[in-house]
Amino acid sequence: MATVYVIDPLERLMPYAIERDAALAAGADFVLGDAGAPRVRDAEVILTYLVPFDAAAIAGLSRCRGIIRCGVGVDSVDLAAATAAGIVVCNAPTYCVPDVADHAASLILAGARRIAWFDGAVRRGAWQAAHDAERGMRRIAAQTIGIIGLGRIGRGVAQRLAPFGARLLGHDPYLGDDQIRAMGVTPLSLEDVLRQSDVVSLHVPLAPATWHLIDAGRLALMKPDATLVNTSRGPLVDTAALVAALHAGRIFGAALDVLEDEPPGAAHPLYAFDPRRVLLTPHAAASSHEAQHDLHRELAASIDALVRGRRPAAIVNREVVARSISPNAR
Ligand code: NAD
Repeated sequence: MATVYVIDPLERLMPYAIERDAALAAGADFVLGDAGAPRVRDAEVILTYLVPFDAAAIAGLSRCRGIIRCGVGVDSVDLAAATAAGIVVCNAPTYCVPDVADHAASLILAGARRIAWFDGAVRRGAWQAAHDAERGMRRIAAQTIGIIGLGRIGRGVAQRLAPFGARLLGHDPYLGDDQIRAMGVTPLSLEDVLRQSDVVSLHVPLAPATWHLIDAGRLALMKPDATLVNTSRGPLVDTAALVAALHAGRIFGAALDVLEDEPPGAAHPLYAFDPRRVLLTPHAAASSHEAQHDLHRELAASIDALVRGRRPAAIVNREVVARSISPNAR
């Protein structure tokens, strides 16, 4: 009997009833365990939320046919090592797309309207001072918003912001200019998007090629009154360079759902900036009741396929010649 093994169960956040039912219905055992347990090595299917799988961890798997990452990003799994080992890597590609797009658009709008700062001022009794203060606000329809990465979430952000009348620019080297124009977005180089945008929102996956995609040099291209929004992955941005750019006034602000160090320490340098300039949320962009429901469905579908020896729909390393998947099912 095959085993489906959850190596970092998040029972508090997510019950696994749907995944368990899928495993049992396909004829597999379903185990909630921990990453260090000996049974991991012999499991056919592994679910991981936060535990990373580097090449050494993958080399230790004897019968694994699939690693399922409980989320969109698969930067915690060494894809090349998994592919070489004939292990399918799956994600949950669509479960939170509307939620992250909502969150990025909300950060952009809340930042432009200084919502968090106003709220804090009113609660402190500074209603009149906040009302009278020069806040440097600009109408959204007068702004240019740059979207880096126009996959599922990036294009969702474009759809949400288009009705506000903002000018939309975008960069995605894996899409044709016509595909980007069809989204109502003007395609440009990364550098030109950074130079021309009042807000830059990041929606690219984290990979070796995108680590510190936004570094000191690229921050220097941005307008002094621009804001950087990141709901994708913390290490896309060089935090030290961002903090330096904010202190020097080379950019105005940042709105971040993800950080390089999660959770951040008690004295993170970004806390130095008030919420007019820096908005922070705790990697919560994917959260919604509906997303949680859809996450279970996507994970269960991959479990079902892998246990039955079929090719899952949510496969990330499509080039893998899988260990235990029926050739007829590919
Ligand atoms: P996607 O695969 O649909 O789209 C990613 C897009 O980025 C693709 O179109 C790709 O061509 C493009 N891209 C890749 N490298 C690029 C580069 N160097 N420059 C510009 N574009 C590039 O993925 P998605 O569903 O839109 O998700 C994007 C990312 O959002 C995920 O990889 C994940 O890390 C992150 N995410 C975060 C949360 C959260 O809770 N904050 C939740 C879900 C996803």
